[in-house]
Amino acid sequence: MVKAEGVHKSYGAVQVLKGIDLEVAPREVFCLIGPSGSGKSTFLRCINHLEQVNAGKLYVDGRLVGYRQQGDKLYELKDSEVAKNRRDIGMVFQRFNLFPHMTALANVMEAPVQVKGETKAVARERAKKLLDRVGLGDKAENYPSQLSGGQQQRVAIARALAMEPKLMLFDEPTSALDPELVGDVLDVMRGLAEDGMTMIVVTHEMGFAREVGDSVVFMDQGVVVESGNPRDVLTNPQHDRTKAFLSKVL
Ligand code: ATP
Ligand code: MG
Repeated sequence: MVKAEGVHKSYGAVQVLKGIDLEVAPREVFCLIGPSGSGKSTFLRCINHLEQVNAGKLYVDGRLVGYRQQGDKLYELKDSEVAKNRRDIGMVFQRFNLFPHMTALANVMEAPVQVKGETKAVARERAKKLLDRVGLGDKAENYPSQLSGGQQQRVAIARALAMEPKLMLFDEPTSALDPELVGDVLDVMRGLAEDGMTMIVVTHEMGFAREVGDSVVFMDQGVVVESGNPRDVLTNPQHDRTKAFLSKVL
């Protein structure tokens, strides 16, 4: 579903990603861990077309991200082509970024109506089902300010799912939450994983990575240091940098 081959990304002279190689299979739950500044968010942003890769190749669902290849040459995609490819990817951020002037239901309905041109009736039915699925069927008419952080984050997940993505990206979805609200969000993510969603999850929740993850990648300073089965990487890390990181977060 996702394939990275020697992916590089710099901001000016600052090299952030220094040759990332990895592959995420369909239905896989792929957890990305690593210290602050290691490039985890940058990598997700590249997958989601929010940043353009400088060198190497990144594929989502068999399609090159950001470019069209003709012979040996790469051409940057037009904005309209990027927008079309982005529809298949859902992203959930640390901050929920819901539209504050819209109810939970309207937040979930918005993209299918505005972007896909779906009728409101169809979008509303799906939005109701998605709010049920994230445990918020009774909060459909609440505004974000009338919801807890964990509830807002679950609305944000429902909103991403409303576009029926093939891939979900989570960038530290529980880091901004009070500890007692984290479990409900992780439960929703666990349910998604059980339903076979392909997910890349940047997280410091090692319990989630161990129980739900199919693989874990430890990134540091823009490179993949270690990757594999969560049990191996988290309980028996081979590299000193992985050991040092885990000793701080576990
Ligand atoms: P954290 O765990 O703190 O979220 P991260 O692993 O997600 O860290 P990134 O946000 O990907 O790290 O940042 C990696 C590096 O890239 C950092 O040194 C950061 O300062 C730099 N960086 C990120 N975005 C930009 C930008 N738009 N312009 C310049 N530098 C940037
Ligand atoms: Mg980050």
